[in-house]
Amino acid sequence: VESTLRTAVAERLGEGRFGLWFGEGVRLGVADDALEVGVPNAFFREWIQGHFATNLIEAAEAVTGRTLRLTFQVADEAEPRVGNLIEPKPADERRKHGGTVPIAPEPQTPPQRDRPRNQQARPPRRLEDFVTGPCNRLAQAAAVEMVQTAGASFNPLVIHAGVGLGKTHLLEGIGHALRARNPGMKLVQGTAEAFTNGFLDAMRAGNLGAFRSRYRRADALIIDDVHFLAAKRATQDEFLHTFNALIAEGVPIIVAADQHPRRIARLTDELATRFLGGMVVKLDAPAPDTRAAILKAKALARGVDVPNTVINYIAEHLRASVRELEGALHSLIAHAVLTGKRLDLALAKTALRDTIRHTAAAVGLRDVERAVCQLFELDAETLKSDSRVRALSYPRMMAMYLARKHTGAAYSEIGRHFGGRNHSTVISAEKKVLGWLRDEERSALLAGFETVSDILAALERT
Ligand code: ADP
Ligand code: MG
Repeated sequence: VESTLRTAVAERLGEGRFGLWFGEGVRLGVADDALEVGVPNAFFREWIQGHFATNLIEAAEAVTGRTLRLTFQVADEAEPRVGNLIEPKPADERRKHGGTVPIAPEPQTPPQRDRPRNQQARPPRRLEDFVTGPCNRLAQAAAVEMVQTAGASFNPLVIHAGVGLGKTHLLEGIGHALRARNPGMKLVQGTAEAFTNGFLDAMRAGNLGAFRSRYRRADALIIDDVHFLAAKRATQDEFLHTFNALIAEGVPIIVAADQHPRRIARLTDELATRFLGGMVVKLDAPAPDTRAAILKAKALARGVDVPNTVINYIAEHLRASVRELEGALHSLIAHAVLTGKRLDLALAKTALRDTIRHTAAAVGLRDVERAVCQLFELDAETLKSDSRVRALSYPRMMAMYLARKHTGAAYSEIGRHFGGRNHSTVISAEKKVLGWLRDEERSALLAGFETVSDILAALERT
């Protein structure tokens, strides 16, 4: 029981935190109606109780199928200290059991339905409605190819991009098209989160067989947001086995992730390597004319006549993602309907004033600093120091370049912020980064990114 328990707890906490707090010296055990945590000292007890009590109880209840309370045994205290640290569940949720009931599986819960997280009924998005431009043409073509050849030309297909750039749209479109071509096929489509929950439920129910065959009998497998598997070791192993079994049979697999597989932190090497075995395509943020084309298509789909001036205004001011564009368009249409006003540029400016102010003008020097420090795992002082080693000077130059691009601060102000440098230092940093972008080949391989534009894109997303 202890090792299953440890696995279940590790899944919930992530390996980093689990390793830190549940390594040597910390035991997990179940006795009667108690989950007993043996800790070396009171500090561990306080910390674990304060941070992980709910996770622990949930994991232990899932594994044992019993209602448990949390108790601690502190090695350096003479008397074991026992406390009921969890709010008891409402009486109707608690199942009665005697003190020595053998570990019994939970009654089988209905299988988790894989569906998008927002549960509003909406028809699946279709490939035909996906507007293409230079930012996404390759990904769209790969999606169509995947539908037509069902994995014969490459397998798997991995689509990666930041939020709101169309990953789920493409996945839904592929699923829809595959099914349209072959109505009888067993298409298993869902999120990595649903896969994880299904796996944990199956472990709890002692029913891994059913879980496995559900996935492994698929004629096509589509899994969204696979970065969710990061740091979930046991689930990744399970997914890897599913993946291998399906690939061996030539079953098409399509996944989406928020990063290039190599960039997903704490994805096992095996899985990352498997993801790279087919085709990996990226969706970039659309350029202004693609943004306008997308807005036009969305307006048309809603049957609303939106003047070009308004389309261009939105396309110009909202740059981060397609979701944001869509949101702006919808709220503008709602605004027009509710106020009975004409949908024109004046209305757009009023209706979207806050959205645009908050998205466009909010970036400050500190935001740039924070993003750069976070990505390169530096503290601000180090970033601003005088050191010329590349590991510091390159991030510093990128910070200056990004500050210039996004904050509207003057060269001198940027220089002052990033370590009291003068304006000509900032100008040459900007030139240098622009040079890298023109010449990706020689670009610095910092932080495991392939190219400087990848780094900058990651920074711009944060
Ligand atoms: P992600 O999964 O990458 O976060 P989504 O696929 O949910 O993004 O896309 C966000 C919204 O933007 C969806 O409503 C989607 O239909 C729309 N969208 C994204 N890219 C396009 C595109 N190229 N053409 C049309 N709609 C798009
Ligand atoms: Mg999505």
